Amino acid sequence: MIVILDPNITEHSEEYQQTLDYLSQLAGITPHIHKIQGTQQTLTEIYLIGDTKSLSTEDIHALPGVERVIRISEEYRILGRHRDKQRTSGFEYNGVRFSQDNLNLFAGLCAVDTPEHVEIMFKALHEHGQTCARMGAYKPRTNPYSFQGHGQSCLPYVFELAGKYSIKVIAMEITHEDHIIEIHECLEQTGHPTGVMVQIGTRNTQNFELLKAVGRQHEFPVLFKRGFGITLNESLNAAEYLASEGNSRVIFCLRGVKTNMGDPHRNLVDFSQVPVVKRLTRMPVCVDPSHSVGSREHSPDGILDLMHATAQGIIAGANMVLVDFHPEPAKALVDGPQAMLMSELDWFLQDVTLAWDCYQKRHALAEKHWAR
Ligand code: PEP
Ligand code: MN
Repeated sequence: MIVILDPNITEHSEEYQQTLDYLSQLAGITPHIHKIQGTQQTLTEIYLIGDTKSLSTEDIHALPGVERVIRISEEYRILGRHRDKQRTSGFEYNGVRFSQDNLNLFAGLCAVDTPEHVEIMFKALHEHGQTCARMGAYKPRTNPYSFQGHGQSCLPYVFELAGKYSIKVIAMEITHEDHIIEIHECLEQTGHPTGVMVQIGTRNTQNFELLKAVGRQHEFPVLFKRGFGITLNESLNAAEYLASEGNSRVIFCLRGVKTNMGDPHRNLVDFSQVPVVKRLTRMPVCVDPSHSVGSREHSPDGILDLMHATAQGIIAGANMVLVDFHPEPAKALVDGPQAMLMSELDWFLQDVTLAWDCYQKRHALAEKHWAR
């Protein structure tokens, strides 16, 4: 059960103390306090852990300072929506808003290779009014002899160039908790020219110790990829590890699942699950067409499969797109065959806008229907 306090109630108020004292003396129940930092105020949610079946929501609602009480199902305790449409979703990070109601685009290099390519990418994004990007420094590779990413050594120029072109948030995968410290230290040394959204890759979706470590830090929000060989439910439970350790600023990313049934695509595209994740949880949902589709093929209509998949995700209500671009895909050290070209950026952005407009119209149409 979750007890949501009135946002005007402070920790030092009498109402807060009275309610907490009452909840603390309930037999077999432990209250856990969870604070959600919003732009204007801090929201306090008290999670009642234990057997809450016999508790009456009406009695608890009547306690001083209580705004709402939600009875929760067991799964995804913090990130779950629990059939409550009103529960707040989303967060702001480094001036960028992430929620289930808007759309952010993260285009960029799968793996950082040269400062020149990083600069071409950021410059093009800036010229198109984009403020977010993807840049891989730590690459988990299937083959130990493949390029593993430049790691810590490329961070200074990546962050400085991001600052030069007003990029506010970079999605960057980490594969070990030490990488959080390396990113933190480099941002300090370079004077925080940009922000980082830490990415958990599909190979680490169930690396629970890594998830706990990332959950314990509050500096960086997290882009969490679904596991490519596990169920959606298992991936959502894994995401909850981050929140259970204290970090609920999590975006859930669909990136396809591994099966030959998806051939000739690299993975079977799973973007029809966008609305499912939005219904079950409060996380904004990202789609990654690059790692789902895995090629630059196009159909007779001239539209790349990558763009069709992106549009399918957005039209279903996705809130973020993570997509590989590269100035010279033939020279890319990782995933060149799936990278879009710089000459396609403008076309891609226009196509994204079309799909987003369509989603908004579809949303308005549904609201009209339900208002009848
Ligand atoms: C990536 O986004 O660079 C990546 C490796 O993705 P995934 O973990 O989904 O394979
Ligand atoms: Mn990749």
